[in-house]
Amino acid sequence: MKKYIFLLIFAFSLIACNNDKKEAVPVKETVVVKRFKEIFVHSADEAIAELKAGNKRFLSDSLINIDHLEQIELTKHGHQPHTVVLSCMDSRVPPEIIMDQGIGNLFVIRNAGNLEDHNVLGSMEYAVEHSVKLIMVMGHSHCGAVTGAVNEIKMGHLTQLVEQITPVITEGASKAHTINETAKSSIFNTIKDITDRSIIIRGKLNDKKIKIVGAFYDIETGEVLFLE
Ligand SMILES: [Zn+2]
Repeated sequence: MKKYIFLLIFAFSLIACNNDKKEAVPVKETVVVKRFKEIFVHSADEAIAELKAGNKRFLSDSLINIDHLEQIELTKHGHQPHTVVLSCMDSRVPPEIIMDQGIGNLFVIRNAGNLEDHNVLGSMEYAVEHSVKLIMVMGHSHCGAVTGAVNEIKMGHLTQLVEQITPVITEGASKAHTINETAKSSIFNTIKDITDRSIIIRGKLNDKKIKIVGAFYDIETGEVLFLE
């Protein structure tokens, strides 16, 4: 019996030791920690500057938001994303990577063709009430959804999805040369839909609390072009 009591005490002391160890580990003041503090942005213009700088780092192969374990440690009790990005689901267009943003910096909504609907609007409205200063709608070159719309594809629910792009397709133009231009027009159309349909977002824009921008990602060069 004494042997079992001794083992129990030993086991409890081990658990206590482990808990003490966990609580005693401080967050290290590393480059990543400093970086995380630096990118706490206060305005839409600062958010745009941060995203442009991030894309430059991506293009020059000098990413700095790469220590994901550190970022998990920093964000485990909360996050303050500065931008909500609506982008295409295309596997070549991952917003966090192409604009060198770490865990906790972006809300990201993705679907084929970066299109707006009720769920997207609801997500954006949550984002702007949470912390976001910037809404970014990002399309890209050689987009499959836009190509599907130009080619009038019919397939299950995809039919309805691509029809949302149809209004911006230039009538009579050569299909081969209009994919990217159509994608850019669709970005502006999506921005118009968002601002027309969301009272919450329109209110924040009118009060100059947030901005909304379009962007176009070139999958051949890796460059994010901010659209005027
Ligand atoms: Zn796409």
